[in-house]
Amino acid sequence: MKSSTIKPIKSLGQNFLNDKNVVRKIVESANLTEEDMVIEVGPGMGAMTGELANYAGLVLAVEIDERLRPVLGVLETVHQNIKVVYNDILKVNVRQLIEEQFALNPRLKQVKIISNLPYYITTPIIMAFLEGDVPYLHSMTFMVQKEVGLRMTATPGGKDYGALSVTVGFFAEGKILFTVPPHCFNPQPNVDSCVVQLMIRENPPYELENKEYFFKIIKASFCQRRKMLTNSLANAGYLGINRENVKEALEIIGKNETVRGEVLSPEEFATIANFLLHKKSL
Ligand code: SAM
Repeated sequence: MKSSTIKPIKSLGQNFLNDKNVVRKIVESANLTEEDMVIEVGPGMGAMTGELANYAGLVLAVEIDERLRPVLGVLETVHQNIKVVYNDILKVNVRQLIEEQFALNPRLKQVKIISNLPYYITTPIIMAFLEGDVPYLHSMTFMVQKEVGLRMTATPGGKDYGALSVTVGFFAEGKILFTVPPHCFNPQPNVDSCVVQLMIRENPPYELENKEYFFKIIKASFCQRRKMLTNSLANAGYLGINRENVKEALEIIGKNETVRGEVLSPEEFATIANFLLHKKSL
């Protein structure tokens, strides 16, 4: 089947990259070597896959759309170091795939995830990788909607700062590398895009007594942005705390009860979470 006969499926987020310069910039930004195993989510018609294989030790691509078999099959024949798995990235056992490949290929030392992501599941995919404890993970380089890139890398106080910024910042140091206009894709998405790079931290940026409770606090804090933090946290029954507990926690970081979550730094949230953990009644 010729690639030109494959009609992009909108519900699968199929906006194929058609700008070689953007492909080159993404591949260069990942600093690939023979020691790298690249996981590419959604290779599509292979706009980036061959170029990634020119530099990495192995490219393992996970594609949900079986119609792309003939196109990607050609790439697998040309590049011995490309392996395509046809599945939903949210259903595959990434850890197992990595461990199998590392056992077969002792040259591999680290994993880099590189993808022009399907926009309908951008956040679930990123969160699955960040929270999934992916072995040997070094960095992730993603094309995402510009708005998501801004939220992932935002700092306290601005309109983009929220649960995603704090969560991403806990696991990685992120930055936006460049923006990409709609005309670089076929079909064109109706939003601007950007390439964001997340370098995985070796050590957590602050101490958390209980990671799960911290992320619950973050979720509740940004659930209703315009609310005061005292209300957001005290009303979230699953946290098991009351207004007095929250007031006390805020006093520790020198804030009063009218403060909103959007101005607190991740470190301040960590202090609050570590304190409230010992107050919770559940
Ligand atoms: N990498 C190609 C490119 O740059 O032209 C395609 C990028 S396109 C934005 C997203 C790709 O992800 C499509 O090929 C789509 O079929 C695939 N995809 C969508 N949902 C997926 C999922 N859950 N698991 C794996 N691949 C998926």
